[in-house]
Amino acid sequence: MTDYDVTSLTERLEQAQLGAVIEERGIVTAIADGLASLSGLRGAGLNEVLEFDGGVRGFVMTIEEAEIKAAFLDRSDAIAAGCTVRRLGHLLSVPVGPEMLGRVIDPLGRALDGLPDPVTSLTLPAERPAPTIIERDFVSKPLETGILVIDALFAIGRGQRELIIGERQTGKTSLAVDAMLAQRGGPVITIYVAIGQRSAAVTRVIETLRSQNAMDRTIVMVADPAGEPGLRWLAPFAATSLAEWFRDQGEDVLIVYDDLTKHAAVHRELALLAQQPPGREAYPGDIFYLHARLLERSGKVRNGGSITALPIAEIEAGNLSAYIPTNLISISDGQIVTSASLFAANQRPAVDVGLSVSRVGGKAQSKALKSVAGRLRLDYAQYLEMKMFARFGGFGDAAQADRMIRGERIAALFIQDRLLHLSTWTQIALLAGLEAGVLDRITPRQINALKTLVATRVDNDPYLADLDAPLTDEIRNLCAQLVAQAAETL
Ligand code: ATP
Ligand code: MG
Repeated sequence: MTDYDVTSLTERLEQAQLGAVIEERGIVTAIADGLASLSGLRGAGLNEVLEFDGGVRGFVMTIEEAEIKAAFLDRSDAIAAGCTVRRLGHLLSVPVGPEMLGRVIDPLGRALDGLPDPVTSLTLPAERPAPTIIERDFVSKPLETGILVIDALFAIGRGQRELIIGERQTGKTSLAVDAMLAQRGGPVITIYVAIGQRSAAVTRVIETLRSQNAMDRTIVMVADPAGEPGLRWLAPFAATSLAEWFRDQGEDVLIVYDDLTKHAAVHRELALLAQQPPGREAYPGDIFYLHARLLERSGKVRNGGSITALPIAEIEAGNLSAYIPTNLISISDGQIVTSASLFAANQRPAVDVGLSVSRVGGKAQSKALKSVAGRLRLDYAQYLEMKMFARFGGFGDAAQADRMIRGERIAALFIQDRLLHLSTWTQIALLAGLEAGVLDRITPRQINALKTLVATRVDNDPYLADLDAPLTDEIRNLCAQLVAQAAETL
């Protein structure tokens, strides 16, 4: 082609594929406390993912007339005023799929277990609408936790949201992890989300899940306290999207948020840093909406799977009526309250039976277990009351003494070692034995050993099969006999 070959130039111009590639870029105007103020990016929306120089990612936290504030999702040491930033054109999202099972990941789906990042064919936005009322179904199937005091008194159903709430170091995480372990070998997929938990505590949870061979159908998502606040903020939402993917394949999922008090704190931190004026749209007014939006995503969907949520919350000095705890209590379907004084008195799990409640679980409790668990709460409450009076002097009559003996056996049944998962039939047998007076004949101290003995007998008994029907007298007697035989070998 000569310099003046106009025809050829025209031809080439005609053939050229011209199309505008629109890429919106902005400039970092300031960095303060881990948040970036940005100018430009007029079209950006809330929660949209941005990329800074060097591939550092962040997302849009607040949008004001003059500027946008963004939180980081990666280490941001290298980002300073003057850096450029561009829109990636998608909202905060998380890779989802079966590839995630067995893995320890961060809220963006990146590997934290030393293996290569999981590769999935699909990603979902982290914030998604909750199922509508029409799409929902009743909670009707039990989610067995293997913990007698919970399954018998505060049964949890698949699709329920049951808060685990209590002071520091009262066994909250242990309860949730034991409930996860009880799903081992069963159909329920479990997800543990650690939000700002100490690394040592998270490592312990992962070690427990691994050593108990429970990782196959488990995902652990970790946002550690030293990482970016944006990741901690994102974690529960991203994990819920993962859960929803499995739910939409018809699976039942159990998700543990450990814990939402720390999540509220990081939300507050980000809101303060972004200088959002306190009020309806910022902390504290919006924390209710934030967590309600999160927990509404759990539930049972019609002709499909379910998401059961166990959010954990920490309270101070037994104060259940503080702001965050009351919020969470009002947006869940019940609460298991753990008590520091019970924990100190070696009642483990330290579940406060008086303050705990399950608002839907009763309907989901298996009929067989319900037949023997009915009176338990009342008997136990009476025992606790009598125990208090007994301190001021002896009992009135023989009937009261009997009730006291029975109460001590119930208390012993409620004490349960960690990792000791009692199947529903084991629980039924023990409670039938209690009802028949078999346990009154042994000491409360022997009851712990009895549990394991009963468990082996029950698991080998072909007659104990149908949990969906109330117990017949025949089965009830069979259970009591089985417990009596086990008690003889003590
Ligand atoms: P934190 O407030 O620090 O998160 P937490 O309330 O989650 O604490 P855990 O970490 O679950 O409490 O438990 C505290 C300690 O109590 C752990 O050492 C745990 O092993 C022990 N523990 C919990 N439950 C039981 C139990 N049923 N039997 C024996 N020990 C238990
Ligand atoms: Mg804990």
